[in-house]
Amino acid sequence: MGLGLVSATIEGLRRLDRRMTWRMDATAKEAYLTFDDGPMPGLTPWALETLARYDAKATFFCIGRHVEAHPALFEQVVRAGHAIGNHTYGHESGWRTPTAAYLRSVADCQRLTGTDLFRPPYGRITNGQIKGVRATGLKLVMWDILSGDFEQGSTGEQVAARVLRRTRPGSIIVFHDNAISEARMRVALPLVLDGLARQGYRFPVLPARPMDIGAHGARPAH
Ligand SMILES: [Zn+2]
Repeated sequence: MGLGLVSATIEGLRRLDRRMTWRMDATAKEAYLTFDDGPMPGLTPWALETLARYDAKATFFCIGRHVEAHPALFEQVVRAGHAIGNHTYGHESGWRTPTAAYLRSVADCQRLTGTDLFRPPYGRITNGQIKGVRATGLKLVMWDILSGDFEQGSTGEQVAARVLRRTRPGSIIVFHDNAISEARMRVALPLVLDGLARQGYRFPVLPARPMDIGAHGARPAH
């Protein structure tokens, strides 16, 4: 059994986990574009321009230390009307990180991003971490379409074709604004936007609301 098949099976099982969102209910042709790992100078501004050409919104799951390093770029994403998600401070794998340290990383990112959406790096998170994250009021957002823009054996065209083949109304699609994915993402994103727009798709943000984690845990901002 190939690794791809193993992870596909695990992903299939995890989709039954109602503690996480894998796709949105949609009656209309709507697809939810998401970008993990930014903000990244050069690539994130390019993604913003490309999205704007299609009047598309997206949700950016940001790494805390990248927000800290590029605050103006983070503000640019927010000002453009996109939604923000928490993707931990240091991009830790939950499977390799003790829960207390993992939750600290989530809280450190939370102070910088102030959102109620969270996506675990690599999709790897333990049951205890899921409970801890949810206890702070964060919602776990996964995906039903992994573009594979990080796969070095794929071309951007193949990445786009895979996304276009699989997208259904309500799909949550993952791209990456990171260095490993840049070459493929720059080819795939316009092709996906073009292909889905031609099919009549619109691209809304994932519903998010501002939330701070205060000294005593989560506190939704009203
Ligand atoms: Zn990531």
